[in-house]
Amino acid sequence: AMRLSQMTGWVSMALMGMWGNIGEVEDGMKTLSPPHALTDAPDAKVLDRVAGEIAFDGVGFAYGRDEGGIDDLTLRIAPGEKIGIIGASGAGKSTLVALLLRLYDVERGAIRIDGHDLREVTQESLRRQIAMVTQETAMFNRAARDNIRYGRPDATEAEIVAAATAAEAHDFILTLRDHAGRSGYDAHLGERGVKLSGGQRQRIALARAILKDAPILVLDEATSALDSEVEAQVQAALARAMEGKTVLAIAHRLSTIAELDRIIVIEDGRIIEEGSHDALLAKGGRYARYWAHQSGGVLGLDEAAE
Ligand code: ADP
Ligand code: MG
Repeated sequence: AMRLSQMTGWVSMALMGMWGNIGEVEDGMKTLSPPHALTDAPDAKVLDRVAGEIAFDGVGFAYGRDEGGIDDLTLRIAPGEKIGIIGASGAGKSTLVALLLRLYDVERGAIRIDGHDLREVTQESLRRQIAMVTQETAMFNRAARDNIRYGRPDATEAEIVAAATAAEAHDFILTLRDHAGRSGYDAHLGERGVKLSGGQRQRIALARAILKDAPILVLDEATSALDSEVEAQVQAALARAMEGKTVLAIAHRLSTIAELDRIIVIEDGRIIEEGSHDALLAKGGRYARYWAHQSGGVLGLDEAAE
C-alpha cells in the first residue's frame, strides 16, 4: 500500500511539473521525492501537441532483481482509441503508466508517442501530453479554484468553471465552506481545508484533467473507491473527459471498461488476452472468468485470478 500511494504521489507531482518544486507541495507530501530524477537528453526535443498514438514495443522493465515489472510487452494504441486494462493487483498495470510518464526508463524495447521515443523528448513536454486521474489524487491546501487550475495554470475563471461543470463538480463546489469562512471556489481544500468525500475528490481531479485538455488521458482505478450512486455521477464526467482523447483506463470495475474499444488483461507484466468485451467473453478465458465473478458488482479480480 505504501508503494502504491507513493507512486500515485510521484505521478501527480510529475504531471503538475513539480519535480523541482517539492517544497510547494503540501498535504504531508513534502516527504515524497521522485524515485530518481531522470535527466533530459542534451538534445531532447520539445514535443508539440501529439495526436495521441502510443506504442509499447517489446518493453521490459524490472524494479530490481526478482521484483515485479513489465516483460516483453507490445501494445499499439491508435490516436483516440480507448483501452481498458485489467489484471490482479501486482500485475503491472500502474507500472505501465509510470513508464508512459517516464518516471522510469525501460530496460528493453521502447515506448513512443506519435513515433517519438520518450527518452528523446523533454519530460516537461511529455507530461503536458498526459492528464491523469488516480484513486487518490492529491488535493492541496489551496482554494478549490487553484486545485482545478493545476491542470492549466493560465486558465481563466470561465474555463475553470466550465471544466468543473463538465466534471459534475460545479454544484457541490458552490456549497463548500471552509473553517475560515471562505466559500465556493474560494474554499480551501486539503488537510487544513474542507474535507471532501471520495466522489468529490474524483470530480475535482476530473475537472483538473478536463481543464488540462491533454491528448492522452490515463485513469488508474479512478472509480474504485466510489459507491455505485456516486459512480453514476462520475461516469458522466468521465465520459466527457474521455471525448476525443486516447484513453488508458485501469479499472477494478469491469462495467467501467466494458464499453471501451479494446480491453487488455495483464498478468505478471505481460498481456495475456486482448480484444473487445464481446470477443473476450466469447473466448471464455481470464476476462470471461472475471466477468462471471463480478456479477454486476465490484470485482474479485484477485479471487478470479486464482
Ligand atoms: P498493479 O498496478 O497491477 O497492481 P504495479 O504495477 O503497481 O501493479 O506493480 C507490479 C509489480 O511491481 C508488483 O509486483 C509490485 O510489487 C512491484 N512494484 C511496484 N512498484 C514498485 C516499486 N516502487 N519498487 C519495487 N517494486 C514495485
Ligand atoms: Mg495499480
